[in-house]
Amino acid sequence: MPLPAHCDLLIVGAGAAGLFASIHAGRAAATVEPAVSVVAVDTARKIGAKILVAGGGRCNVTHHQVAASDYAGSTPAAIRKVLKRYGVDKVVAFFAAAGVELKREDTGKLFPVSDSARTVLSALLRESAEVGVTVVHPARVQSITRLEPSENPGFRVETEAGVICSERVILATGGRSLPKSGSDGSGLRLAASLGHQLTEPILPALVPLVLADGHFIRGLSGLTLPTRLTLTGASGKRLCSAEGSTLCTHQGLSGPAVLDISRHYLLANHADRHVRLCIDWLPMLPAEELESQLQDARGRGGLSVLRSHLPERLARVLCEEAACPLTGDIPKDARRRLVRLVSAMPLPVVGDRGFAVAEATAGGVPLSEVRLETMESRICPGLHLAGEVLDVDGRIGGFNFQWAWASGFVAGTSALAGLVANRLPANETPPV
Ligand SMILES: Cc1cc2nc3c(=O)[nH]c(=O)nc-3n(C[C@H](O)[C@H](O)[C@H](O)COP(=O)(O)OP(=O)(O)OC[C@H]3O[C@@H](n4cnc5c(N)ncnc54)[C@H](O)[C@@H]3O)c2cc1C
Repeated sequence: MPLPAHCDLLIVGAGAAGLFASIHAGRAAATVEPAVSVVAVDTARKIGAKILVAGGGRCNVTHHQVAASDYAGSTPAAIRKVLKRYGVDKVVAFFAAAGVELKREDTGKLFPVSDSARTVLSALLRESAEVGVTVVHPARVQSITRLEPSENPGFRVETEAGVICSERVILATGGRSLPKSGSDGSGLRLAASLGHQLTEPILPALVPLVLADGHFIRGLSGLTLPTRLTLTGASGKRLCSAEGSTLCTHQGLSGPAVLDISRHYLLANHADRHVRLCIDWLPMLPAEELESQLQDARGRGGLSVLRSHLPERLARVLCEEAACPLTGDIPKDARRRLVRLVSAMPLPVVGDRGFAVAEATAGGVPLSEVRLETMESRICPGLHLAGEVLDVDGRIGGFNFQWAWASGFVAGTSALAGLVANRLPANETPPV
C-alpha cells in the first residue's frame, strides 16, 4: 500500500496501542461528515510481532483485576485516570464482539480461549480494516515536524516510504523492549524532538537478572520454585518485594517474581549502588520456624531438614555455602548462617539481560506532559501519545496490554473528536 501524501489522523506505530487507537478513531470517523482519513504507519515488515510472542504465544490480553498499583512510572492517580476510561470489562466485550472469547486462568490472567495470540492479532487487523484504517508498512518514521499553525495546522512526517502531512498525530511507537519487533526507541527520540522530556534513566523492565560469574545459582539452571525477593535501600529500609515463581538460569534468575522486581532493582541501583536484593527461598516458612526445625534435627544435619522443603540440589548447595554439616550435629553459628542464607540471601546482581529480552520499558514520556482526558500532549498540541512510549510499565499478568488498550482508546477517540471540533464553527460543540 503506497503512503498517501495527506491524511487527517496519522498513527505512528501499529502495535497494541496504535491498532487500538486506529480502530476507535476509525469507528468514530465513520459517523463524521465529511469523511476523515485515518492512516497508520509502522516500521515492521510484519505487523504485530510483539502481540504474537506475548504470553509465550498465547497473548495474555489483560488481567481480571487491574489497579493503578499494578503499575510503576508515572503517579498512580494519573495512571488510574486513564485506566478507568477503558476497563477490563470493555476489553473483554471488545474482543468478544471481534470474535475472540477470553478465558480467565487461576492466576487472574485473561487469554484467548484459542490459546493463540494469532487470533488476537487477526481480530485487531480485521477490525482496523473494517473501519477503513489504512495501514502502511514498512514505513519507519524518521522525523515529525510541527507545521506553523498560521501556514497549515498539523504535522509533516517523513518516513522511509515517503512524506505524509496530517492534521493530528498519535505517537504509539512503544518503548525499547524487543527492538527487533520495530520498537527500537526511535519513538522516544521523536517525542523528544517535539519538545517532550524523557524520564532519566530509561531502563529495561520485566527483565531477567544476571548474577556474578561462578555463582552457585547459575549451576542450578532449570530449577523453578516459589520465592520472595526483597529490595532494601542502603540504610536497610525495605523498598519493595515480589513473591512468586523464580527460575534459576545459566546466567542468573528469571521467572515472574524476578521480572516483577527487576525494574525496581535496576532503577534503585542506578540511583544508589548500595541497594540490596535478597531472596527468601522458603517464603512460606518463617525464619524462626526453620531455626527451630534445625535445632530439633539433633544429629541429622542440615540437609535432612532443608530437603523436606526444597529441591535436593538447592538444599545441598545452601548447606555447603553456609558451611553447615550435611549430616551430624549442627553448631549454633552454622545453623544461624544457614537460616540467614535460606531466608535472606543477598543476590550479587551484576546486570540484566537488556532490552533484547525485556518485556517492557521503565521510563518514557511522563504522564505529567499529557492531558489525561485526551492523551494530547501539553507540549505539542495536535500530538497524542499512547502505550509504552509513556512512562508507565505494569507487572507481569496482562497489565501492559491493558495500558495499551486504555491509552490507545483515549488517544484514538480524542484525536478524532479534536479533528471534528476544529471543523465546527466556533459557536458549535462536537457531539459527545
Ligand atoms: C516477549 C514479550 C512478551 C510479552 N507478553 C505480554 C503479555 O502476555 N501481556 C502483556 O500485557 N504484555 C506483554 N508484553 C508487553 C506488551 O507487549 C507491550 O507492553 C505492548 O505491546 C506495548 O504496546 P505498544 O503498542 O505501546 O508498543 P509496541 O507493541 O512496542 O508497538 C510499537 C509499534 O511501533 C512501531 N514503531 C516503533 N518506532 C517506529 C517508527 N519510528 N516509525 C514507525 N513505526 C515505529 C513498532 O514497529 C511497533 O510495531 C510482552 C512483551 C514482550 C517483549
